[in-house]
Amino acid sequence: MRTFDYLRAENTTTAITEAAKPETRFLAGGTTLLDLMKLNVERPAHLVDITRLPGLDTIEISPDVIRIGALAKMSKVAAHADIIEAAPVLSESLWRAASAQLRNMASIGGNLMQRTRCTYFRDPGAYSNCNKRNPGSGCAALEGINRNHAVLGTSDACIAISPGDFAVSLVAFDASVLVRGTVERRIPIDDFYLLPGQTPHLEHQLSSGEMIIGVEIPRVAALKQSHYLKVRDRASYEFAAASAAVGIEFESDGKTVRDVRIAVGGVATKPWRLRAVEDALKGRPIDEATLRTAAAAAVDGARSSGRNGFKIELTPKVVARALMTVGEISHDTEERFRT
Ligand code: SF4
Repeated sequence: MRTFDYLRAENTTTAITEAAKPETRFLAGGTTLLDLMKLNVERPAHLVDITRLPGLDTIEISPDVIRIGALAKMSKVAAHADIIEAAPVLSESLWRAASAQLRNMASIGGNLMQRTRCTYFRDPGAYSNCNKRNPGSGCAALEGINRNHAVLGTSDACIAISPGDFAVSLVAFDASVLVRGTVERRIPIDDFYLLPGQTPHLEHQLSSGEMIIGVEIPRVAALKQSHYLKVRDRASYEFAAASAAVGIEFESDGKTVRDVRIAVGGVATKPWRLRAVEDALKGRPIDEATLRTAAAAAVDGARSSGRNGFKIELTPKVVARALMTVGEISHDTEERFRT
């Protein structure tokens, strides 16, 4: 491992100034960064410890918006009674991420910045060809073991999956990432993450010297009736094979969809909003026929790379099941969408 210097910042001004230096990383929970440093994937020259910055671990809920500080721990947000009541999808997506130990350490800001679990990306000793780690070197996953790789948003340069759960629920509900640098700005989270295209090493819109200070989620009606479904190879501790964050607001008849929000994870190169599926459901009752037709659009444009083709079949079922759970559709119907 390379040597690096370490600074504990006492205020955001110092943190931002220090972070503008080349080869600098912020250190919060460290659950991703320290792993990747040990693997020789991340090689920072400077670490700026932001764990002691005041005022960035708050959770505020007003009638219009939920604001969560970047340094709030995943476990604290997941267990917050008002979050569970106002926005179940946020709590559920955090509970179903990682292990209890990691959730107790990891911060919300760090969670948004976690990097792909692509095996080839994480093993520079064995694989030099990774466009994300080493631009222009090729992609070992294209001809390799790609069962856990993306089918949506891919390019011929990279098919790595965006690994987050919480970010999927944020994308479904039009959250914004609050950023502080020389100026403060607010980035819609759907724009925050970048598609790989020919530059998979560029993953987000943060510039050098900018720090995430929080996220803000508008309190739309569908947020209260929301759910996060995560399907994975084992229930206790695993990244998603496919997941869905959904929320529904019904008309006064209790059947017709007035508003619906859907995003999927575990299948795309960034958290993936399903606007075509939403449009197919709005103004209709959620019955089995409507769900089947609408959910099929979840994989419009999907492309298998070989071993990950099962995700194209799995994703519409996960979307349909999540919608049925939140729409309280009969168990018999839900059984027909079992994954
Ligand atoms: Fe690297 Fe992306 Fe290919 Fe994985 S899928 S080896 S991260 S370029």
